[in-house]
Amino acid sequence: MTGTAPVPFTADDYAARMERAARQAADAGLAGLLVAPGPDMVWLTGYTPPADTERLTLLVLAPGRPPELVVPALEAPDAGRATGAPALTLRDWTDGKDPYALTAALLDARGRFGVSDNAWALHLLALQRTLPDTSYVALTEALPMLRAVKDAAELERLAAAGAAAAGAAADAAFEEIRQVRFSGRPESEVAADLAGLLRRFGHSQVDFTIVASGPNGANPHHEAGDRRIERGDMVVLDFGGLKDGYGSDTSRTVHVGEPTDEERRVHDLVREAQEAGFRAVRPGAACQDVDRAARAVIADAGYGEYFIHRTGHGIGVTTHEPPYMIEGEEQPLVPGMCFSVEPGVYLPGRFGVRIEDIVTVTEDGGRRLNDTERELVTVA
Ligand code: ZN
Ligand code: ZN
Ligand code: ZN
Repeated sequence: MTGTAPVPFTADDYAARMERAARQAADAGLAGLLVAPGPDMVWLTGYTPPADTERLTLLVLAPGRPPELVVPALEAPDAGRATGAPALTLRDWTDGKDPYALTAALLDARGRFGVSDNAWALHLLALQRTLPDTSYVALTEALPMLRAVKDAAELERLAAAGAAAAGAAADAAFEEIRQVRFSGRPESEVAADLAGLLRRFGHSQVDFTIVASGPNGANPHHEAGDRRIERGDMVVLDFGGLKDGYGSDTSRTVHVGEPTDEERRVHDLVREAQEAGFRAVRPGAACQDVDRAARAVIADAGYGEYFIHRTGHGIGVTTHEPPYMIEGEEQPLVPGMCFSVEPGVYLPGRFGVRIEDIVTVTEDGGRRLNDTERELVTVA
């Protein structure tokens, strides 16, 4: 049921990413990038250090130097087996030695460095103490588009995480969940069903399974709780995670039994807004154009004040990352970018509707990576 495994990334793929990152850092006037364990490191090297170790592991990418990985000696053998390792020079350190002095020796003592958003303050502050004339900027501020444009192999993974047609994952989970009973069950139970389905369809990690019924649907941040779903409820379903290292994230809003005319009208409105956002996707359009296109449909119908979040976010080795489809974001769309288009309407105390697909920019428009029913689906 999990589809065929994708062709693995090669050492050359990772070497090319590290080279591209170092070049972009230089173009941005940086002396280099300091990459902490997490999504940046996975994307650049294929290496995932043990979680929650306080020992310093840091990838240093500096223009004109080979990529260097500062790594605790006891982790060095594992690091050396990472797919991207052939391009790395390992700088291992043993307990009792000063890893910051070791790192400092690799850096321009007066340089400005891009640092992974999720780097620990513990390490960054120690490095600052060791090299007081250095300065730092968050990586997504300095190079927001570093991971934004996906290559063909990445797009294949994102498609497989999303669409049933490409190998059964998030969409397949929706096709199953619409068959289960909703009425009389707590939201948390349906959420557990969804998590199980995502895993069954090949996800290694479930990041969220939102089941927001009735008035809970009017809160976009509601996850899932004890509320018992009733006949007559609108239910926002929003779920995703990682499959083969790449993210899925899709929303559909279903109704328990027959909807009222108003519920149907609001759902149609969000569907039209989602379609308008999707149609705005093409190379050269700005991110904010996607937001504007979706928002205009909702505002023109008089529901503008009830669409209370941005229209979308990028997706890749994480489920939320740049680029953001939001007013003020003038970044032009580029083929290979991948992001959500997810307008919603939230009526306080009553119900909410959200419809979300992952979309990738093609040479002449956009392609959806989710393809389940967008008309209002009724459930039991
Ligand atoms: Zn209803
Ligand atoms: Zn979502
Ligand atoms: Zn989303």
